Amino acid sequence: MKLSKYLLPTLREVPSEAEIPSHQLMLRAGLIRKLASGVYSYLPLGLKALKKIEGIVRDSMDSHDAQELLMSAVLPKEYFETSGRWEVFGPEMFRLRDRAQREFCLGPTHEEIFTDTVKNTIKSYKQLPITLYQIQTKYRDERRPRFGVIRSREFVMKDAYSFDKDEQGLDVSYQNMYDAYKEAFDKMGLEYLIVDADSGAMGGSGSQEFMVKSDVGEDTIAYCRCGFCSNIEKAGCVAEDNNNSANELEMEKIYTPNSRTIEELTQFLNTDAKSFAKTLLYNSDGKIVAVMVRGDREVNETKLANYLGSINLELASPEEVVETTKAAVGFAGPVGLEVDVLVDAEVALMKNFVVGANETKYHYKNVNINKDFTPTVVGDFRNIEIGDICPKCKSEKIDTCQGIEVGHIFKLGTKYTDSMDCTYLDENGKEKTPIMGCYGIGVSRCMAAIIEQYADESGIVWPVSVAPFHVIVVPVNTKNEEQNQLAEEIYSKLKSAGIDVLLDDRNERAGVKFKDADLIGIPVRINVGKGAADRQVEFILRKGLELSEMSADEAIERAIAFIGENK
Ligand code: ATP
Ligand code: MG
Repeated sequence: MKLSKYLLPTLREVPSEAEIPSHQLMLRAGLIRKLASGVYSYLPLGLKALKKIEGIVRDSMDSHDAQELLMSAVLPKEYFETSGRWEVFGPEMFRLRDRAQREFCLGPTHEEIFTDTVKNTIKSYKQLPITLYQIQTKYRDERRPRFGVIRSREFVMKDAYSFDKDEQGLDVSYQNMYDAYKEAFDKMGLEYLIVDADSGAMGGSGSQEFMVKSDVGEDTIAYCRCGFCSNIEKAGCVAEDNNNSANELEMEKIYTPNSRTIEELTQFLNTDAKSFAKTLLYNSDGKIVAVMVRGDREVNETKLANYLGSINLELASPEEVVETTKAAVGFAGPVGLEVDVLVDAEVALMKNFVVGANETKYHYKNVNINKDFTPTVVGDFRNIEIGDICPKCKSEKIDTCQGIEVGHIFKLGTKYTDSMDCTYLDENGKEKTPIMGCYGIGVSRCMAAIIEQYADESGIVWPVSVAPFHVIVVPVNTKNEEQNQLAEEIYSKLKSAGIDVLLDDRNERAGVKFKDADLIGIPVRINVGKGAADRQVEFILRKGLELSEMSADEAIERAIAFIGENK
């Protein structure tokens, strides 16, 4: 491809809408353009990289005997009604009507549709197990689209679904996809962690996420030297025993005029946050509940939603707080509260703690569980934190890091096959329900994660396996015929050797060309400059920008070898 004819609108300025490096670079390197919040077009260079990632994912699926098919993105409401998810998806689902007012959605994920397909096509145990997949565009009206294609509202996902006769079969299919995922992410050059993940209220017997470690990742991972590695949504907490041996004192109401937050309270009472239990009110599908965690802790909304079986869980609005506590926001507490009070296990070990009094400007001190209020339930409702005791080895301390979730594998069980009445006949002619697994890779998110992982101050650094082009040949001065000719020769020879090669034949200053080449991150650059008369060129690896001089023929050979070794 000749750059003079290629649609590559690079930008020198950092676009103000982009907060993180990968998003900035995808815009600056002319890979994507924004159409609306969370909606992007892929320009030629971006699409080429996306297709390479898709290719890697497809190869890993195919080599693990998954079969590719392609479903529509326009999905009739009925399927989601049968599974119960028409409601569950709530505002995240893009909904539409046809001219006859029939309702549809733009598919956010395809469990229902694959289950229905299997229901209609598979009759006998002889046809199982089977794993089907597609690489397709998904639609989710995310609450907070951000970071470019990392959290967008239209994105490319590879979704696969396995159907097995029994649990042992599912274990095999799951392991098979686990292996396929490792192969795919390794090939993309990604460094990742495989973490235990939440499997939702309905259970499922196991779930793992593939996380790329990155400061801009939206997920928090808790890990321990012992090998424990879990999304904090799921990581179980060991309750810290604060001052269990103290005698229980008499509860006392205290005047705390300007102390609504934990910080204000700790200052006012001159103690630390560990002596407080904060009470947060949530609205779970219309019902208000209270949750108590220690003053320095955070409520884990995933654990809470799983316990409550919530479809929609949100912090209660200020109006709801005032109505429930009969006090201003900031003074909620468990004593006398007429809603369910869920107490974190750590709070249950505390003595003589401070809580809101459900009265504006007042708190209670010396509060004790069972003496002053009775919890509805005691459980694990908080986030694990740095320094916590590891829930696995129970001796080492937890550390945390941020991660970008690029893939998710999940033992689903029979949630969909049951609700959608999908059965097969076993060896004895008896009707049985297939057991499902589902497996997703965020193909477009992978692209951003790769950029995030490898970029340097000059731009993108593509691993060869996903690079849109392998080599860029740059005649330094296009007014010099010798340089042009040698560059053309190198370009044609690489092309005939099957290398994806770009020729920067634009009539631009050398500095502009070099900057662009670095920005778009092509793994190998060959500069054809003053040495052209002697067939001497510069050979530069994008990673590390290491430069060496050599003959044109040697550069061609080196490029072919380098690409071959790293493909
Ligand atoms: P998240 O917690 O990030 O919202 P999820 O649990 O909703 O992810 P899944 O439904 O498991 O994601 O989807 C499979 C994969 O699709 C994810 O692992 C992720 O890589 C990708 N993905 C999910 N939502 C988005 C999005 N809004 N934009 C881009 N990729 C996404
Ligand atoms: Mg999501």
